[in-house]
Amino acid sequence: MFRDFHSASRFSGQAAPFKSETTQHRDYKGNRMSSEEIVLYGDDILRKPTKPVDLSNSDLKELIEHMIEVMREAPGVGLAANQVGIDKRLFVYDVGEGPSAILNPKIIKQRGKEIATEGCLSIPGLQGDVRRAAAVVVEGLDPDGNEVRVEADGLLARVFQHEIDHLNGTLFIDRADPDTLAWVSEVETEEE
Ligand SMILES: [Zn+2]
Repeated sequence: MFRDFHSASRFSGQAAPFKSETTQHRDYKGNRMSSEEIVLYGDDILRKPTKPVDLSNSDLKELIEHMIEVMREAPGVGLAANQVGIDKRLFVYDVGEGPSAILNPKIIKQRGKEIATEGCLSIPGLQGDVRRAAAVVVEGLDPDGNEVRVEADGLLARVFQHEIDHLNGTLFIDRADPDTLAWVSEVETEEE
């Protein structure tokens, strides 16, 4: 999961567009849910590569809706299935153009390098600078099972790489420049 504390070029805080007035959220089984259900650092599921999505699974759309709700509630701009405890290769994202999901995503092209500050809802409060490709092309399936190919740069490219890392059991702290890793207080997010 990806949060946006400062601006489009600095990540990891509260993503203002996703703030929700709603206090009663329900998960896909009807239970009350909140960002508190996000799996935190230390849980093994964050460290294991996820299993490819089986499209015959009828609960898939409910799972995606659930993940979008959790992402909004957090709030954040991306969320991988294993961050809600589900061993499936899919993630949801919303960088301000509406929520979407990619199943069985794969980066097929990348170019350039860009360093930006990231954080992760599974490691709340920690930030660090991560060098990633500046632009990527991701292929996968949409929730209906149609093949999709998304070209991304900027924030979206970063979200894609961060979330696909999650699906491979990799966390941003594995890639961050150790000298830049620092705990920050949410109180500092004055731009929200
Ligand atoms: Zn994350």
